[in-house]
Order: sequence, then C-alpha cells, then structure tokens
Amino acid sequence: MLRSFYASLAWQKFRLLIINERGLRCQHCGERVARSAELTLHHLIELTPENVHDTSISLSPVNVIVVHHHCHNEIHHRFSVRRERGVYIIYGPPLAGKMSYVRECVGRGDLVVDMDRLYAAVSMLPDYDKPDNLLSNVRGIHNLLLDNIKTRYGKWHSAWVIGGYADRYKREKLADDLGAELIFCDVSKEECLSRLELDEARRYRRDEWRGYIDKWFSQYMA
Ligand SMILES: [Zn+2]
Ligand SMILES: [Zn+2]
Repeated sequence: MLRSFYASLAWQKFRLLIINERGLRCQHCGERVARSAELTLHHLIELTPENVHDTSISLSPVNVIVVHHHCHNEIHHRFSVRRERGVYIIYGPPLAGKMSYVRECVGRGDLVVDMDRLYAAVSMLPDYDKPDNLLSNVRGIHNLLLDNIKTRYGKWHSAWVIGGYADRYKREKLADDLGAELIFCDVSKEECLSRLELDEARRYRRDEWRGYIDKWFSQYMA
C-alpha cells in the first residue's frame, strides 16, 4: 500500500512542488544539488499503511523535509538492518515517473533492470536515444538479468524491473516467473503528453516519444 502511494501521480506532483518551493538543497545535510531527481521528501510523522491515505499526513508540507536519497537512507538506517529480498516490477506508460519512483525506493546493493539504462550503457547515448540496431544485444543483457532474478542468482538485496508492460498477460506471466510484486505508475495519457512537451532533453525526439506513448496506451490492458 505504501509502495502504490509512492507511485501515485498525487505524490509525484507533491514531491516536485515542494522541491521547487524550497530549492535544490538537502534539508538534512545542507548540501546543494544540481537536479531535483537527486532529492526526495522525508515524512517527519512516518507513513504507515494506516495513515498513508490521510493526506493531512502523507501530502502535508509541514510533515516533510527535502533530503538527498542517500541522506534519506541514513535517516532510516536502511542499510544497517538486513533488508528483505523483494522483487518488484514497476510498469506504466512512458514518462509516468517509473524511474523516479525506483530512485526513491532503491537501496545500495539493489539490482535495477531497465531497458533504457541498458541501452545507455552499451551505446554511450543519452537514455532517451535508442538506436534500433542495438535492440537484440540490449534485449540479450536484459533477458540474462531477468534470468538472474528468476533463479535468485547473485548477492543483490532487492531487484527492481522497470518497463512499460502494457500487455496484462505478459506482465502477469513475468511477475509469476520472477516471483515479483507488480507496481503500477498510473498516469493519464494527457499527463504523459504534457510532460513530454515540457521535457527539454527529449525536445528533438518528441515525435518518436509521442509514438511510444500512443503505442503503450493502445496496447494497455488493465
Ligand atoms: Zn543530504
Ligand atoms: Zn523518510
């Protein structure tokens, strides 16, 4: 229940609003940062499954401070306790905020599997530029990592698989195969398209990305 809250549009908007208001600075250590993606919010009254739907706690400006992801981990002592070995599939349309969701939840030593990032790793291109001719190689690495997760190979803590997964049957089959929990980033098509318009990095690839968004919504099965 907490995880789906962090995937919600209400949370994404609240997070950006607070960071924009308070500036690019961690209120825990005082350091400045270059990008809002490096920051998250920490709840002073900790969120629980019982209070998460009470917006006077979960979405209250006075109940949050802006912090680095690593300071946030420090505040919660996330790495001093042995963490569960969870496997999660984060799915939803392009520009739904899947990556920023994972950034908020991921711990050091977790495994993150994302086609866009694998593309970037082997092409030296920014992660929005994905040349078709590399697809089979990128898919090869991707499948290998999914196999590693399936067999629990390696010493990773939790694993996060990021993707569109519009097709319900494929998505549920993958979740079954991996023993994973599905987490949906539920964002409307209008919202995705308006984010694309505002996205400077994708400025020269808007048509291509509009195509990805159209495709996802035409294939999506709830
Ligand atoms: Zn900090
Ligand atoms: Zn916190």
